[in-house]
Amino acid sequence: MSDLSLYEKYGLKQVINASGKMTILGVSTLSEEVVQDMKKGASNFFEIKDLLDKTGAYIAKTLNVESAYIVSSASAGIALSVASLISKDNLDIIYNLHSRKYDVPREIILPKGHNVDYGCPVETMIELGGGLLREAGYSNQCKKEHVEALINENTLALMYVKSHHCVQKGMVEIKELVDLGEKYKLPVIIDAAAEEDLKKYYNLGADVVIYSGAKAIEGPTSGLVIGKKKYIDLIKLQSQGIGRAMKVGKENILGLTRAIELYENSIKTTGEELNKRLEGFINTLNKINGVEAKSVKDDSGRDIVRGELSFNSEVLNLNAKYIANELKEGDIAIYTRDYRANQGKIEIDIRSVSDEELKIIEDRIIEIIGGK
Ligand SMILES: *Cc1c(COP(=O)(O)O)cnc(C)c1O
Repeated sequence: MSDLSLYEKYGLKQVINASGKMTILGVSTLSEEVVQDMKKGASNFFEIKDLLDKTGAYIAKTLNVESAYIVSSASAGIALSVASLISKDNLDIIYNLHSRKYDVPREIILPKGHNVDYGCPVETMIELGGGLLREAGYSNQCKKEHVEALINENTLALMYVKSHHCVQKGMVEIKELVDLGEKYKLPVIIDAAAEEDLKKYYNLGADVVIYSGAKAIEGPTSGLVIGKKKYIDLIKLQSQGIGRAMKVGKENILGLTRAIELYENSIKTTGEELNKRLEGFINTLNKINGVEAKSVKDDSGRDIVRGELSFNSEVLNLNAKYIANELKEGDIAIYTRDYRANQGKIEIDIRSVSDEELKIIEDRIIEIIGGK
């Protein structure tokens, strides 16, 4: 929040993001090192193909994978992967992906419980790439057999979405999909947009793995596609087709490359460290009658600790939903994780919150509760 002048110039609202990596708030903020490389990228010319090839090779080496390529977003990564498998290196199909009928496979098989809406449906990005979605199994269950039953001569690829948005139980395992892919000679695409591990899914045998640049990696708005060289090479050809509408700027290419390097070499903040930072906040709020504060671990198993606040609406005479909304409506908009507000709980995610901001949150909660 250092550049107040921009907030003033455009009349923008200041935001404290205690909700985690949220696209509606701009996902993440960048480190000084990343900004410096973006500045150099913005201030110089490059042969863009050269820049994309060389940064991709650098990232592939950093991650110890066959090939890597920067795209404009994870969503673009999905669309381009699908499009590239349909058209291969046929320039006519690359040019006319949507307008002409070609006798080529287009069906993408995805567990039904993975066809989620992350701000837009996964399905929409598959279709943008010219694919036809075939949902395997049912919303609560998709076995290997459900996927196998759908494989036919029009099948283009098998897809898997690794995300907290998805149904977690009763789903086919990545390893099983990889086995099916090998058996039927079909590529396996994994959307791992928000995942923290940049090697795991590639090492499990996936052919193409897609990440979002600004989520776990904390890079600029961008996407990363890693995988087997023959598939990444095909994705590159899409810049002559629909990929042109998904162009990524030179500053973002250099920013993401630096962010990946820092991400892989950095010692990540642990849950224990977050827990320590939360201590004072939790103790203070626990003193308020009707509020119970404690630290809780991330429920999808990542090493993240958040502050959980439970509000007793009978004692306080106001409920968690009201408090979460009031936090957003103040002079500084404070966004919390409020998807369980209907159960009386909101969570404070401090990964992008400074100590001063945490104090602002504390004061504002006390003000809201006391002020009614
Ligand atoms: C965020 C997300 C995306 C999209 O990432 P962008 O880089 O914003 O396009 C795709 N899939 C999943 C599961 C996501 O969480």
